[in-house]
Amino acid sequence: MKSAVEHLLARIDAKRDEVTALTQDLVRIPTVNPPGDAYEACAHFIGERLAKKGFAVEYVRALGAPGDSDSHPRTNVVARWQGGAPGECVHFNSHIDVVEAGSGWTYEPFGGQVANGRVYGRGTCDMKGGLASSIIACEALIESGLPIPGALEISGTVDEESGGFAGVGYLAERGYFSKPRVHHVIIPEPLGVDRICLGHRGVWWGEVETWGRIAHGSMPFLGDSAINHMSAFIHLLETQLQPRLQGRSTAEPVEPPGARVSTLNINSIHGGQVEQHYANDERGWPTAQTPAPVVAHSCRTVLDRRFIAEENLEAVKKEIIDMLDELKRTRPGFDYGIRDIMSFVPTATPKDAPVVDATARAIARVLGREPSYIASPGTYDQKHIVRSGQLKDCIAYGPGILDLAHQPDEYVGIQELVDSAKIMALASLDLTGWSRSVAA
Ligand SMILES: [Zn+2]
Repeated sequence: MKSAVEHLLARIDAKRDEVTALTQDLVRIPTVNPPGDAYEACAHFIGERLAKKGFAVEYVRALGAPGDSDSHPRTNVVARWQGGAPGECVHFNSHIDVVEAGSGWTYEPFGGQVANGRVYGRGTCDMKGGLASSIIACEALIESGLPIPGALEISGTVDEESGGFAGVGYLAERGYFSKPRVHHVIIPEPLGVDRICLGHRGVWWGEVETWGRIAHGSMPFLGDSAINHMSAFIHLLETQLQPRLQGRSTAEPVEPPGARVSTLNINSIHGGQVEQHYANDERGWPTAQTPAPVVAHSCRTVLDRRFIAEENLEAVKKEIIDMLDELKRTRPGFDYGIRDIMSFVPTATPKDAPVVDATARAIARVLGREPSYIASPGTYDQKHIVRSGQLKDCIAYGPGILDLAHQPDEYVGIQELVDSAKIMALASLDLTGWSRSVAA
């Protein structure tokens, strides 16, 4: 005789076409961010489906958050299914936004075509496939009729690709990711069907500005170029800081291994006059307004510093400020300003946390192998859940190959959709307390 768990797994196997179709439907809603297209349509598509399955559905627009407007409302959906007995709540959080399609596609980016056992399209892997798996997992649990205690929640949230401030950030500040409402969170980002992502490196984004003295461009010796000063700073970043960071490694299992050190990227640099694109007409005259000849009195650069668990934010900033102060002492005329843009500290959920343990056992049961544990080089919405929600029991786990995210011909494997739905369902049985109630 089949056990209740075996029946549940068979039920999910039978939903193979359904999870495929759901992924296709989601991909066909082009929720491109920026600017944040079709959020409303996507949130309602998810909400209306879940309402039919017995979820209480709430739409939460992040009014007044960055990017929110009547033409591009930041609309999130949060759905909750309440079990019949007390227990804990498992929440599946997926971002509904995707990055632009870009070029180089052989499949229709928003067509959701099926070929080679995969669904192709922008967002299949990052992360509408994971969203579809979590929906199918919860629907299978509810349809099974098992007496599940606690609650199941599914959210579709906006703007993860641009920091998540109008999405999970907005909801977490309002208690949607805190106890006693929620106890365990699984974020179905595309980390791979047998990998559990425990957290991410930290990030500091800052802007550095150098100043000079404006003068006529034909007599630069009468002024002082902010661009020359900035280039002295960037030279130090490249010759001193970046080699030092390369030698600073972490014990956390960051993937890919190249990111198991601290890193610095120079995101942008702007100095002097506003950029224009110049061309000459047939007479050799400029077609756009020509610049006025001036020595740049300001130059700004945006730095993206990713730091490891073994570092702290204050030291990360101080290291850069020390270099700037050194230039101020040694380089005539050098002066600077520095501003924080955004920062998040590294997060790492302990390996023995309930959500890690339950997911690991589910992976072993469904796939017949032990999971691997990883950490992410970049942050994702876990940062808001840990910081604003004060909830530590959170992982990223979902179908798809991370390297395909944001690439042309992005896809997700259909077998992976089915397997991860099974794993999410089994983990939920454990985390809500059903498994314990059966054992008792
Ligand atoms: Zn993602």
